[in-house]
This record gives sequence, C-alpha cells and structure tokens, in this order.
Amino acid sequence: MSVWAILVAAGRGERLGTDQPKAFAKLGGQPLLAEPLRRLDESAWVDAIVVVAPSGWEEPSILLAEELGCGKVRACVAGGAERADSVRAGLAEVPEDAVVVLVHDAARPLLTDDVVERVLAPLSAGWDGAVPALPVADTLKRAGPDGEVVETVARDGLWAVQTPQAFPAETLRRAVEGGGSATDCAGLVEAAGGRVKIVVGDPRLAKVTTADDLARVESLLSAPESASHFPGAPER
Ligand code: C5P
Repeated sequence: MSVWAILVAAGRGERLGTDQPKAFAKLGGQPLLAEPLRRLDESAWVDAIVVVAPSGWEEPSILLAEELGCGKVRACVAGGAERADSVRAGLAEVPEDAVVVLVHDAARPLLTDDVVERVLAPLSAGWDGAVPALPVADTLKRAGPDGEVVETVARDGLWAVQTPQAFPAETLRRAVEGGGSATDCAGLVEAAGGRVKIVVGDPRLAKVTTADDLARVESLLSAPESASHFPGAPER
C-alpha cells in the first residue's frame, strides 16, 4: 500500500504576528515546518511526501527538507488562497497509483506515529476517511455579534477534529475535484457522501495559531512523549 502525505504549510499565519509565514516562524530554533516534516519523513507508515509551501517560499522549503535529510519529499508546490486550494495543489503532485493520502497541517507540529496508525486503520475496514479528534470539554454557546448568547449547544457527540486525516486517494481526489469549501478535507469527503470515522486524537496535536500556542508547543517539544497520552478518550 503506498501512502502519500500532503503537508499543508501555506497559511499566512496572520494571528501569529510575525513577518514570515507561519511555517517559517521559529519553533525550538528551527522553522516550524521542520518538526512535522521530519516526523512524517521518519514515519514507518509514510512512503512519500508533498510539501505545500507558502507562495514564494518553495525554495527555502526544499532547502529545509534537504538540510533535514528528508528523503521522502517528492515535490514542493505553492499553496493557494484557501486551505482546500492548497490541498488541491498538493494532490496534483500525488501519482495515480497512490493508494492512500494522509493530509496533515504543518501548524500541528507534534505528530506521532501512533496517531498516523490510528487514522490509517479504518481505511482497511472500508471507511472513506478517518480523522483524529478529542471530545469537546468546554460548554459551547452560540452568540450574536454583540456577544449576547443565543443558545447553549449540547456538547454530546461533539468532537474537536485534528489532522492527520487519511483517505483512499481516489475518494479524496473526487471530493476535492467536486469543489466546495470546508475547513478540513473530511468536510469535503462528507459533502461528497463519504463515511468518515473519528479515532482518538492527541492533545499534543494542538494547532499553532497564536504566539501563545507556539510557546505551548515549544514547551511540549521538550516534554516526555508519555505526556501525550489522553486518559479520558474512549477507545474507538
Ligand atoms: O488556517 P488554518 O490554521 O486552518 O490552517 C491549517 C493548516 O492549513 C496550516 O498548516 C496552514 O499552513 C495550512 N493552510 C494552507 N493554505 C492555506 C491556508 C492554510 O496550506 N491557504
């Protein structure tokens, strides 16, 4: 089975407040992109990688991959305006004979092989996709633009979804070609009628959006891996 990973790193990262795109913000003295790229390259489950870089940052991304000795990187392309456009650009570099595509946000640097294994497993059982997720812990409320609460949303059955997300290559291609917009790839597959399975995520896969997030991920980088275990998550 050939597993291709698309590492989407083309976000502008405006909320991070740096001059450079988010993928090149510093994490542990390296561009943020380095950590997820190295981890994907080292994964026993991943055969090949496409990096989707911020437009104009393809060359530094290739140089970084070379510096890190990431031998599985097959292509590096510029991303688009929306995340779905970046996924589409990456997918165009994935060959026809790829069996599975794993899409991962570079903004979630602390990828583990355990979570990759968990999202790949349901595909053998016929699912159209699998996503890691954590149960929502906070109370959820919908509010109007002035902050007035409109309703409290029951959180039963609600999950906060992460990446990496895994799909049979053809399923993802059809969903992405169908256009539409979604904040994750699974949303596109669901809109195309696909059945997507939730598997247990990892709190260490938190997305870097703000400078505080970056500091938090930086401290997790030096924490022992065992801290990644999520005690409250049901086995699925
Ligand atoms: O914007 P958001 O935080 O949802 O981005 C999630 C991931 O998608 C990030 O790794 C970001 O670099 C990537 N992205 C992209 N192209 C875009 C927007 C986001 O590759 N146009």
